[in-house]
Amino acid sequence: MRPEGPSEPRQGGGAGPGQRGVATRSNLIARLWPARGSFRPGFSGSPVAGSTVMAMYPKHTEEAEAYREKIQAFLAEHLPAHWQGVGALSGHDRARFTAEWRDILRDNNLLAASWPIEYGGPGLSDLENVIIVEEFSKAGVPTAGPNDGFGISMVGNTIIEWGTEDQKKYFLPRILSGEDIWCQGYSEPNAGSDLANLGTKAELDGDVWILNGQKIWTSAGQAANWIFVLGRTAPDAAKHAGITFFLCPMDQPGVEVRPIRNISGHDHFNEVFFSDARTPKENVVGEVNSGWAVAMTLLGYERGVGASVNHLRHEEELGRLMAMAKVRGRTSDPKIRQRLAWCHSKVEIMRFMGMQALTSFLSGNAPGAGSSTSKLNWSEYHKVMTELSLDILGADAMIRDGDAEDGAGNGTSSPGTPNSNNMWINNSLAARAGTIYAGTSEVQRNIIGERILGLPKEPRSDAGPWKDALK
Ligand SMILES: Cc1cc2nc3c(=O)[nH]c(=O)nc-3n(C[C@H](O)[C@H](O)[C@H](O)COP(=O)(O)OP(=O)(O)OC[C@H]3O[C@@H](n4cnc5c(N)ncnc54)[C@H](O)[C@@H]3O)c2cc1C
Repeated sequence: MRPEGPSEPRQGGGAGPGQRGVATRSNLIARLWPARGSFRPGFSGSPVAGSTVMAMYPKHTEEAEAYREKIQAFLAEHLPAHWQGVGALSGHDRARFTAEWRDILRDNNLLAASWPIEYGGPGLSDLENVIIVEEFSKAGVPTAGPNDGFGISMVGNTIIEWGTEDQKKYFLPRILSGEDIWCQGYSEPNAGSDLANLGTKAELDGDVWILNGQKIWTSAGQAANWIFVLGRTAPDAAKHAGITFFLCPMDQPGVEVRPIRNISGHDHFNEVFFSDARTPKENVVGEVNSGWAVAMTLLGYERGVGASVNHLRHEEELGRLMAMAKVRGRTSDPKIRQRLAWCHSKVEIMRFMGMQALTSFLSGNAPGAGSSTSKLNWSEYHKVMTELSLDILGADAMIRDGDAEDGAGNGTSSPGTPNSNNMWINNSLAARAGTIYAGTSEVQRNIIGERILGLPKEPRSDAGPWKDALK
């Protein structure tokens, strides 16, 4: 964490050990848990022997803790006995469990937990939502089905914020029922980090928009029947100004999905080609040529409350790595011990960053530039951590053996995943994607530099019409 200034007591400073510990803790309280909203700071645990350092764990209000008990009871009722986490199930069983689990969540009104009652959600508070995510993470179960990140979190929330009443009435129930399965058509061969450079052309023909162009890296596109697409509707305008946000059916001759095989041998993402694809003019979200603002709203939902509970999955995964290091007798190697200790420190930092993110979220703030610090931290950490896992495996890392998740790149392997060679190999390969999707590490560093540290902005040469900009 960044030192606050010369007045802050630091380790090795002038005050006695007792004073130093207390003062540091109270500074942390002030910094991390400002007294506002329904979130109450608190500590639990005992002082570490011979020092005044205490572990800090937040407590919520009594009402919120009562809600936590309700969620724990729900999980106890609906999860099988001896449940170890979704990762403990092998391929086919996992797919079946995930589908059935989605139905259970929907039937108990917990599927789109952040949605208001009028759109089919339970109308919970932000804090209740956080508690659901926390408890589900601890139990190792998903909060929704496989494509619901795109359907519920991204396009569903965006339709609630920007959509017409007709769009809300038509699309939201179909997202919940699972009738419509969504994917994200943002990136193109010439528009990734520089998303506003996108060139998929959209032209109005009577009452129908005609789309032509190509998207790429479309995750789970092969499973989807709807895609939200950013299209270029005004090539003469500046590049951010001529973009429109479309909802487009995929089940039509003008849309072709071609899988891309990734480094771990799986085809989770795709190219999507639009050749005179059609979507009715009612399927524009927001105003024509004002899609950039809609697109950015959606990216905000892509982050959600994730940053505040991210550390839970990383703690669980690091626990599995530690167990493997012990079983393989590698914890007596000082270099391995040192690297494991480094991982532990990084996950602890993640926990504190999570507290900051949680405080901010519960105070009603949008994720903002601070989420770049979190994304950069966990994704770069995960690459190093999974490299360590291969070093612990040693020569066995060359042999694909045992059960494995297929390396979709969800940040971590799923809780309960067995400690097989195959799993760590896939996990390590998937970790490379973590520093690319949802904004590359270089882009996150640019955001931190410009928006948090106030450094000069990158020079731009693309202020004129998009059609004249260097592609
Ligand atoms: C697993 C995975 C799933 C994905 N799923 C989807 C999806 O479902 N839908 C979708 O639309 N997209 C998806 N993406 C695409 C993702 O959003 C892009 O890959 C990402 O935005 C980077 O764009 P790019 O690949 O075109 O790389 P580029 O933008 O071409 O970047 C190439 C390199 O240049 C660096 N760079 C670029 N600009 C700068 C700069 N200004 N300063 C410094 N360095 C810079 C980058 O950091 C990178 O190292 C997915 C990607 C992955 C890996």
